[in-house]
Amino acid sequence: MEQHKFRPESLMMSFGYKPELSEGAVKCPIFQTSTFVFRNAEAGKRFFEVAYGLSSPEPGEEQGLIYSRLNNPDLEILENRLTLWDEAEACAVFSSGMSAISTVLLEFLQPGQYVLFSAPVYGGTDHFIKHVLPKWGIGHAAFDANSSEEEIHAIIQEKGADALGLIYVETPANPTNALIDMEMCKRIADVYSNDKKVYLAVDNTYMGPLWSHPLKHGADIVMYSATKYIGGHSDVIAGAVLGGNEVMTRIKTMRTFMGNMMSPNTGWLLMRSLETLKPRMELQAQNAMKVVEFLNEHPKVEKVYYLGLIPEGTPEYHIYRNQYSSPGAMLSFDIIGGEKEAFTFLNSLKLIKLAVSLGSTESLAEHPATMTHADVSPEDKQKLGISEKLIRLSVGVEYYEDLIFDIERALSHV
Ligand SMILES: *Cc1c(COP(=O)(O)O)cnc(C)c1O
Repeated sequence: MEQHKFRPESLMMSFGYKPELSEGAVKCPIFQTSTFVFRNAEAGKRFFEVAYGLSSPEPGEEQGLIYSRLNNPDLEILENRLTLWDEAEACAVFSSGMSAISTVLLEFLQPGQYVLFSAPVYGGTDHFIKHVLPKWGIGHAAFDANSSEEEIHAIIQEKGADALGLIYVETPANPTNALIDMEMCKRIADVYSNDKKVYLAVDNTYMGPLWSHPLKHGADIVMYSATKYIGGHSDVIAGAVLGGNEVMTRIKTMRTFMGNMMSPNTGWLLMRSLETLKPRMELQAQNAMKVVEFLNEHPKVEKVYYLGLIPEGTPEYHIYRNQYSSPGAMLSFDIIGGEKEAFTFLNSLKLIKLAVSLGSTESLAEHPATMTHADVSPEDKQKLGISEKLIRLSVGVEYYEDLIFDIERALSHV
């Protein structure tokens, strides 16, 4: 028994929670409290010494509970459970994916530096990089899935090798599923890590925490919008960051002063979500495969963008097989025609809901060019394949034949 290593899905119901500390309750209660009573003044003093890094914890000594902006049992237990999926040393949970991402960017970049990022990134991230970071004197440079390693080095040389502060990657790219090679990004980060380390941060919202583990491919920091698969029910906004102890201490310290930690109630909801994470995601991926088989044969569909369709033998296929364990449950397709045909299709769906967001139990459809990616410049839209005929689908847990029925009927209206 001692040697047996339980899988994360077996531990999601119990890991890190001690019923004897909560009247024997089998489930972790919601610790809806702002502050915690110290046993005595000496204990309070010690908790602060450790929390503020004035003294290192003794072996086996746990950080005492102080105040819910610093720590709270619902957040700590959730964080410990999340570390299991990515095999990370530590985790910090946030009030949203954007607060997780913006905290990482602010902590790991300084005035005079720039962030090198993969385009396209999530719209909120793109705005933060292009419109908020410059107020602090932080610049940016972009590459995309088509950029070769040499081309990326050239971008860095042109922008200034010494000023490179952080490499930020979102893969697969939303909404076209183009892949960025995380191991290549790690090699690049290492080349420019001399007196100071250039960290590699990966937004793993699309494929994590089940189907891709960026920390194993060289990432130092992995970020999530936990609003998506981790939450999985379209009922919370939440975020998470994972990594080694050193980077996570910096991130948690920044979180303490930004005050953008998750609420205990959301932490409790996410612990409930994590119990079904694996079966949900696996069913969503199976359903997506069936939907793709149908779309791929349909005469009104021009092209389907889905990881499972990457041709064998291509460099993308090599990245896919090496860095992902499933094609996932996100797909997009070009409908024959343009905005008019795409809108007729979207307006004709009944079971599948017309909404942005992804990764939830219910299937969602949207039109990237006029919705999630409305902000992207016309040139970039063209370069990245975000055309007026593109439709994005996030596949849920419904019965697949019902999804296909809904899609087939909507296509018949086009
Ligand atoms: C939704 C999303 C975000 C932002 O997360 P919020 O929880 O909405 O703040 C960031 N990155 C990706 C890839 C997303 O899909």
